[in-house]
Amino acid sequence: MREFDVIVVGGGPAGLMAARKAAERGAKTILLEREYALGTKACGEAISISTIKDAGVKPKSKFLRNRVDVFRVHAPDEEKYIDIHTKKLGSAGYVIEKAVFLRELAHLASREGARISMGTPAIDFEKKANGWKVLAKESGKSLVLSGKILIGCDGVNSSVAKKFFRRERFAVVSCFQYRMVNCKLQNPHMLEAYLGREVAPLGYAWMFPKDLEEVNVGIGTRGVPARYYLDRFVKSHPEIFEGANVVEIQAAPVPVGGEVREVVGDGILLCGDAAGQVIPLTGGGIHSSIVAGKIAGEVAGEAIEEGVDLDEYPKRYSSWSKRISNSLKALRLIERLSDSELNQLAGVLTGEDIVDLANGMNLRRVGKKLLRHPRFAVRLARSLLKG
Ligand SMILES: Cc1cc2nc3c(=O)[nH]c(=O)nc-3n(C[C@H](O)[C@H](O)[C@H](O)COP(=O)(O)OP(=O)(O)OC[C@H]3O[C@@H](n4cnc5c(N)ncnc54)[C@H](O)[C@@H]3O)c2cc1C
Repeated sequence: MREFDVIVVGGGPAGLMAARKAAERGAKTILLEREYALGTKACGEAISISTIKDAGVKPKSKFLRNRVDVFRVHAPDEEKYIDIHTKKLGSAGYVIEKAVFLRELAHLASREGARISMGTPAIDFEKKANGWKVLAKESGKSLVLSGKILIGCDGVNSSVAKKFFRRERFAVVSCFQYRMVNCKLQNPHMLEAYLGREVAPLGYAWMFPKDLEEVNVGIGTRGVPARYYLDRFVKSHPEIFEGANVVEIQAAPVPVGGEVREVVGDGILLCGDAAGQVIPLTGGGIHSSIVAGKIAGEVAGEAIEEGVDLDEYPKRYSSWSKRISNSLKALRLIERLSDSELNQLAGVLTGEDIVDLANGMNLRRVGKKLLRHPRFAVRLARSLLKG
């Protein structure tokens, strides 16, 4: 049996941050990743520069694949749209090479002394009087580990969460994504999202370009097959996709039901998708998972070294928890609207309003604005003004 202070399960953004921060605080840390390579999970790969800052990573061209100047949200009729200009937000966005970015996080975790074990699925977890016994398979061979603190960062289908946490309300959107080449984009620095029940029931379709000719095109839907709608979306845009080819096919669910109620147990923490820490309106979860992993790792390290209480983790994450719950509120309101109401809404909201709704910030400001529009006053404004 190999002994550690902290055992992290999962080598996504949350797990790599957690392992690094726990090790940085002096805890003997191991991260178990079941896959043989980092970053194999489906992802649109769009992030803000503040994600990179919060990850404590120097921006490098090897993972910042494409700068984003504008995020265009198309109304269902595809005639109206709202542009969100990153410069106006005083921020910057990027489409990254996520696998390269995760390797950078792994590099930093290793530098702090964390051990990373690839091709090592964690199979079972047993609570002991003074910590945990974790059974894993390392390249096919049984591995038994003991640890004082267990951090579950094992994604949306987390076995840690299933065994030790309650995840009622754990709603997911099914996502399907193609990486396509030889596309004909007009502006490689523009991300696009397409809304509407016809296009993507209870979700949206996206195009996140890597450059002028290569794009992550994907879709999230609920209650209908995502791939069927993605193929329909691609076919409906021959001006971009005629002559293009799919070179990668990926699918995965995204949790959009908000953060789970408890993220701390006896000697155990839950982070990232496993804990529903995704911005529900956008389905973006890299930033929120990185911050969660970072805080969980710090708290775990401090618990080992200084006896800090593990409940510090949700306390330090509370501003993000609030953003997630506000964004869920906005999602619930918007998904009730018909396509024609969404078309109208596109004439009322600005890019700033969309960003605020998506991130669950300044909901009262957006609510006050909608109060002036009779059609939305009752359905949207009052609910936004409540909280
Ligand atoms: C199609 C799609 C597009 C998306 N696009 C974006 C986007 O553009 N921007 C954005 O911000 N977010 C996006 N997201 C969401 C984002 O990918 C996730 O929120 C984020 O990756 C969550 O990080 P995580 O570390 O919690 O989990 P994950 O990234 O899922 O990592 C979990 C890791 O745990 C490993 N694992 C699972 N079980 C075990 C086990 N038993 N033992 C060992 N290892 C295990 C998995 O192999 C995986 O590597 C997208 C998601 C999808 C599905």
